[in-house]
Amino acid sequence: MNFIETLRLKSKLFFIFIIITLGLIIVGVMGAINLNSMKKNLDSLYFGSLVPVIELNKILQTYQGMITNTFYKAKNAQLAPHEIKSQIKTALEAIEKDWKSYESHFKRDYELEYVEYAATEIKEVNYYFYRIFEAIEQESDAKKLLIGNIEKKIAHVHQVINKLITYEVEVAKLERKNFLTLYDTILVKVGSILLMVIFGVMIISFYVFKSIQSDQSTLERTTKKLKIANKKLENVSYTDSLTGLYNRRYFNLVYDKEIKRAKRNHTNITFMMLDIDYFKQYNDMYGHIEGDFALRSVAKVFKDLLKRPSDFIFRLGGEEFGILLTEVTELNSEIIAQAICDAIKARKIKHEGSKIDEFLTVSIGVASCIADEALDDEVLISKADEMLYHAKENGRNKYIITTNISVATPQVAEKASA
Ligand code: GH3
Ligand code: MG
Ligand code: MG
Repeated sequence: MNFIETLRLKSKLFFIFIIITLGLIIVGVMGAINLNSMKKNLDSLYFGSLVPVIELNKILQTYQGMITNTFYKAKNAQLAPHEIKSQIKTALEAIEKDWKSYESHFKRDYELEYVEYAATEIKEVNYYFYRIFEAIEQESDAKKLLIGNIEKKIAHVHQVINKLITYEVEVAKLERKNFLTLYDTILVKVGSILLMVIFGVMIISFYVFKSIQSDQSTLERTTKKLKIANKKLENVSYTDSLTGLYNRRYFNLVYDKEIKRAKRNHTNITFMMLDIDYFKQYNDMYGHIEGDFALRSVAKVFKDLLKRPSDFIFRLGGEEFGILLTEVTELNSEIIAQAICDAIKARKIKHEGSKIDEFLTVSIGVASCIADEALDDEVLISKADEMLYHAKENGRNKYIITTNISVATPQVAEKASA
């Protein structure tokens, strides 16, 4: 059954269809052949025995009825010679016709001998009757008829035909017995074939369905693997390779989604724009590779501080970062911004090129509000950017927050890192 495994699903189903069709054809053909042999048997029972019995009975009746009656009436002068002649002739012709018909039916070898004997006897008796009516025709006196002799002849022919009838009835009984046996045999034969075909189709179907099931399991496993691979690929495409933070592409997606949600639910939303202070000088002093290490350390500080699923940290490019906080109040946003400034400084990344501190520091622009339908989608970004600019202008290593987003002039709060 290995070849089933190699077939495609469509071919497997087609294969089952072919097997079932073949099975039905086999059962149909076998059934038709056996029905045909039953028909032959019925034919031989009907035409070989039952019809002949009827014909023999007809011959008997003609002898006993028409011929005997005619001769009785002839002897009693109840019939004119031409009537006698016509009635006897009609009767004898009817007998000959029936006998011919009887002889034409199928005869078994063992019957033939007795049939021939009966034919001779009938011929002889008929010849006797022909002679009688010829005599009557030649003006013999019908009254001189020897009825006793006629009766003897008829009794003899009666005996012969009766024996033939008994014979045919016996044969009919035998034929019926044979037919019933044949019927039983056919029943067993067709039943066995049907069972074999059903069994065969079931076994093949079992293998085909097993193979389909295994294909499906493989497909499910592959789909699962593919989903995981897709997820990984999606994660990779949304992740910044240097820091492991989300990249700008993911920022565009999340920012859009979260701002819409906050607007819909009238909830808090905060966006922070972060930029490392004097990073150009850092690179110049320690080299680009060290600069990358510093970027990773800064990212690690962000990750350690912001762990809620509603906090999103992005590397927007170069040494610029974005932080999106949902479900955080304006006051808490301030606390978080301050905590970031403190934590970066506390990381103690030596920065001798900085003009404001011996360690690496960041400046943060914060825009925070409770969103409503009036909130412009882009305003949080531009405000945070604006606040970052103010933070840089006002000495760096600090955050500046604006909370009055919808109003054109922001209320600015400023806090420097300790
Ligand atoms: P400011 O305090 O005003 O921000 O001064 P700054 O020197 O940090 O100026 P700016 O923000 O323009 O600095 C950009 C510098 O960041 C330029 C480049 O040397 C450095 N930089 C940007 N991307 C990377 C990076 O992927 N790796 C490293 N090592 N340095 C980067
Ligand atoms: Mg910059
Ligand atoms: Mg900078």
